[in-house]
Amino acid sequence: MNATDAPLAEARGATAPRAVRLEREDDWEGWRDAARRLLAAEVPPEDIVWHAADSADDLFAAGQELPPPPQVELRVPRAFVDLAETAILHSDPERFALLYRLLWQVTHHPGLLSDHADPLVRRVELMAKAVRRDIHKMRAFLRFREIETEDGASRFVAWFEPEHHIVRANAGFFVRRFAQMRWSILTPELSVHWDGAALTESPGAERPQSPGDDAFEEAWKAYYAAIFNPARLKVGAMVKEMPRKYWKNLPEADLIAPLIASAQGREARMIEQSVPRAEERPVSLAALAEEARGCRRCPLWKGTSGCVFGEGPADARLMLVGEQPGDEEDRAGRPFVGPAGHVLDRALSEAGIGRGEVYVTNAVKHFKYVMRGKRRLHQKPDAAEIDQCRWWLDREIGLVRPRAVVMLGATALRGVTGKSGAIGKMRGRPVRLAEGTGLVSWHPSYVLRLPDAAAADRAYAELVEDLRLAAETARQV
Ligand code: SF4
Repeated sequence: MNATDAPLAEARGATAPRAVRLEREDDWEGWRDAARRLLAAEVPPEDIVWHAADSADDLFAAGQELPPPPQVELRVPRAFVDLAETAILHSDPERFALLYRLLWQVTHHPGLLSDHADPLVRRVELMAKAVRRDIHKMRAFLRFREIETEDGASRFVAWFEPEHHIVRANAGFFVRRFAQMRWSILTPELSVHWDGAALTESPGAERPQSPGDDAFEEAWKAYYAAIFNPARLKVGAMVKEMPRKYWKNLPEADLIAPLIASAQGREARMIEQSVPRAEERPVSLAALAEEARGCRRCPLWKGTSGCVFGEGPADARLMLVGEQPGDEEDRAGRPFVGPAGHVLDRALSEAGIGRGEVYVTNAVKHFKYVMRGKRRLHQKPDAAEIDQCRWWLDREIGLVRPRAVVMLGATALRGVTGKSGAIGKMRGRPVRLAEGTGLVSWHPSYVLRLPDAAAADRAYAELVEDLRLAAETARQV
């Protein structure tokens, strides 16, 4: 934050609004510090003009001195902090002012944030939503191309054009995902670089600085063509999920039109050949499990004891899909053997199903966790990790060919169907799958985590009910 007088403010005299200058377009810390001081000094929103130093709109060369930091800690609802931290990355130049206005109103009217019809709350929520979407698109549609650097080493370079100021906030995701690679992400506003140890920044770049073609691109195209499943093709949904503006930076974009054009014929051939879910099918579950042990499709394999594959009869009529192995499963190398497994065993027995009759697996095959002291604490897999691991789950389902598949929790739902949904609303309704009938239920660990005993009993009873329905479905179909 700069602390000299703004010439414009001086020219306007004592009644001119106070100019507050932030260091960057995504300067959350700067905004938070300034907002705390201004709020403590009771400076109303209409008396402030906000400005980012690196914005194109350079009306103010400097900001005015801020009031001193508050003596007492200001208490702001956590929900506001979460919302503001995301919304501040929006490209709307008014966002700093809107957020301060909202903060002002929240401190004067606690509870305002739950009024989703309030125009200001609504506007800021929509801004945060647009930012989250942009972050997701960057993660989904950014493609690295390999180049050789002057020292003969290889480096991966990607070009992306975000709508909002998300690059710095999103860089950590790519560091975690591609920790072993040396890479650069070039965007018009800011470029970030990872050398395997440190993240650095440089100014924005222009499209021609990023390489347009390489061997990696060909490999990517081949992979995309291989995973393209004509039986699942919905052109409208595909364009909605993958907007055309991103196509120019996607190597596989060249393939989309011909693949769509040939989809009908390919689908017919698939039906003819009775290949129900995936083009490549290892001959046995044991071979597939062996292959999965070497999987490096996402970083979750690191720091685990190994891949925890499914187990049960290869021709089971009923398949249960959970989230991911936990600490005990990772050590044992078997699914559902920890506390959640004990709940599942009890529920299966009450539903009249022997555990030995069902095939039990997880949507994600490696244990995701964070270290807390010496303990490994479970972490929910994110959408990208679930989607990567679908490659294995698809094939597992394709080999077992169960009559009914129970999706235990939201991760399993996404792993099996590729879609998200509220478990409470979807329970009890069959879902059509390429292979058998799907049913959704609570994950046993959800039942364990519920703090209210009555709610836990209810969820457990529903789990038993859903398993019973699944067993009946598997017998009938
Ligand atoms: S979690 Fe799944 S996709 Fe990721 S490394 Fe393990 S098996 Fe591969």
